[in-house]
Amino acid sequence: MEGPKGAALDLGIQGMSCSACAARIEKSLGKLGGVQEAAVSYASRRAWIRYAPDETDAEAIKERVRRLGFGVSDPGDRSAEYAAMRLLRLRLLVSALLTLPLLWAMAGHYEALSFVPVPAFIRSGWVQLALATAIQFGVGLPFYQNAWSALRAGGANMDVLVALGTSAAYLYSHYVVFAHGAAGSHPDGMLPLYFDTGAVVITAVLLGKYMESRSAARALRESDGYAKLKAEEITVLRADEARRVPAASVRDGDIVLVGPGGLVPVDGIVTGGQSEVDESLLTGESRAVPKRPGSRVWAGTTNRGDTLRIRTETTGEGTLLSRIDALLRQAQASKTGIQRKVDRISARFVPLMLLASAMTYLAWALWLAPGDGSRAALSALAVLLVACPCALGLATPISLVIASGKLARRGIVVKEASALESLAKVEVVLLDKTGTLTEGRPCVAGMQPAPGWSAAAMLKLAAAAEAESPHPYAAAVREEARRRGLVPPPATGRLEWTGYGVAADCAEGRIAVGGRQLAQQERWSGMKRAEGFAAIREAGGETVLFVALGGECIGAISLGDRLKRESPEAVQALRTDGLDVWLATGDAAGPAAAAAKEAGIARWKAGMLPEDKLQLIRALQREGRVVAMAGDGWNDAPALAAADAGFAMAGGTDAALAAGHVALLRSSLTGIHAAVAASRLTMRNIKQNLGFAFLYNIVMVPVAACGLLEPWMAGAAMALSSVTVVGNALRLSGRLARELR
Ligand code: ADP
Ligand code: MG
Repeated sequence: MEGPKGAALDLGIQGMSCSACAARIEKSLGKLGGVQEAAVSYASRRAWIRYAPDETDAEAIKERVRRLGFGVSDPGDRSAEYAAMRLLRLRLLVSALLTLPLLWAMAGHYEALSFVPVPAFIRSGWVQLALATAIQFGVGLPFYQNAWSALRAGGANMDVLVALGTSAAYLYSHYVVFAHGAAGSHPDGMLPLYFDTGAVVITAVLLGKYMESRSAARALRESDGYAKLKAEEITVLRADEARRVPAASVRDGDIVLVGPGGLVPVDGIVTGGQSEVDESLLTGESRAVPKRPGSRVWAGTTNRGDTLRIRTETTGEGTLLSRIDALLRQAQASKTGIQRKVDRISARFVPLMLLASAMTYLAWALWLAPGDGSRAALSALAVLLVACPCALGLATPISLVIASGKLARRGIVVKEASALESLAKVEVVLLDKTGTLTEGRPCVAGMQPAPGWSAAAMLKLAAAAEAESPHPYAAAVREEARRRGLVPPPATGRLEWTGYGVAADCAEGRIAVGGRQLAQQERWSGMKRAEGFAAIREAGGETVLFVALGGECIGAISLGDRLKRESPEAVQALRTDGLDVWLATGDAAGPAAAAAKEAGIARWKAGMLPEDKLQLIRALQREGRVVAMAGDGWNDAPALAAADAGFAMAGGTDAALAAGHVALLRSSLTGIHAAVAASRLTMRNIKQNLGFAFLYNIVMVPVAACGLLEPWMAGAAMALSSVTVVGNALRLSGRLARELR
């Protein structure tokens, strides 16, 4: 059972060493009573949890994470991450310094390096033992801790391989020191010491981890950026005096002052001043938007002109900015189909490698080189050390996190990572008309009252019925009535039929306003004159609404809406991408055909109820086609949800965030093309990452098993492989930056 709509918790998590850790936290949190949903992302080092507040609380959840051996921090606060990185750097430094003498001693083993003088004390087995012990159990301690907590939880991760591999190398050398009493040195040709192997592997792994976390942090910093748009202190007007107060103390209704160049700290309505506001970080719209009293402004935008007075409507976590930020984090922690498959493989990876290593040992000891225990041990060791589940686990999420972050900065908010995956395969794009292809700001273009009625009397009643509808046509009717100074009579018993129209009761009787389908369904009388008017207006591309009082038509209103300036270009871009673009609208055939022609769309369907759009999508999907749909967030929501990728156009910004998989805050069709292009690049990048990670393991593990890799080389290769994946994901970051400009 779905519990009551739970509270959500966002956490930063420190100390995860690979995606197996993320899976472990996720599993453990999932078992905690009261937790409804938990998603943990290794790539962004974050967790997103939904829980029932009456059954558990944030503290209990954090405690559970800590008990698993991980650090917990505020998600916006990257300082814990930096601290973890500094600690990692320190470990790396110490490890490298202690490894250096061991490498120096190793130079003595190689003919080519025999010119390097090696001081006698470094040659001492005891000195080497001391150095190696310090690295193995000092610097390397966290590997054991992580491996232990992974094993205790019944999983295995990269730390298990590293801890096992380096311990084996260490113990093997230990054995050599004591068995051969090699306290002095070993003459050339004798068994070399393997202290260096464990040490070098630990240093290499630390170097790899460090490089990986540095570049991951860089990529994430570029893509999460919303945190710094949040104001710490806000200037408010209290008792006619401007005061700086902490952001948390600002309440709804407070008047906030934002000077030139200042960051708007709340969502609200301008009550004084005229200016231009840069909304690019929120919506991707690069032109500054003019604001005057009555205009809406949003937190996270920048005032580019004179001081504005803003009446606060929403603060803190409720602002559009905060909600977008939360959606983005939720998306970044969500899993795609590919990711789930990879996770299933990764879960078996470590046990499989342990098996491969054991088999390598047996093959060498019993068959390839019987009697040569060291050949067998070294090859088995190399197998353990070369295998890298880390690159596999990282391949998908790191690219998705980068792509969703980059898109968000363009006002394209991906709410589910899986939508990015489907978008790369999309074949058909269905577009709604009003507000999607067109501006969605229709104006009354003409009226035809029935005999005995004046245009004003009809309009007044129509406006009364439309008084509370969120539909753009309703707004147009209200606006025309207001412009003519008409005051609609009060009405009760409101009804709204999605895709048909509205109705309400007033003193004169029951008023209904809607399209032809509504008139036909309710069998209105006296439609003839209105139909004649409609035929002419619809042929010209206008939309006609019919108005009835008590079931009798009292006139018709025609509305004109303009195509968005960029629509034809955006449609063309989608077709160039190889996509099939359709128009599916609830409007009549006339306006549908006109809009389709103007936008360059070859196929259109008119008179589609929201339910019909849903059926159309299902039918296309049954044919095996991958379908994207763009529409408004409120009456197209079911169709948007059914599409493989649903784009909600943000007319009023709010409904868009709730519907579909992707919200287009700039409400422009160019966003669809951008998202498709980004998803194709991203999926290619992920495939490269996965291809590399698989190929790496498939090639390197057999090479190691054949005894062709020294254990330290195996360790270094393993460390480098995950760095390669992160490096490739960073390349995506650059590509996307250019593509989305
Ligand atoms: P679209 O698919 O173009 O977005 P809708 O599904 O929103 O169209 O609406 C379809 C038709 O239903 C409109 O063309 C109009 O005739 C009628 N309609 C819907 N809502 C209203 C309303 N509030 N007032 C009048 N007519 C409406
Ligand atoms: Mg619509």
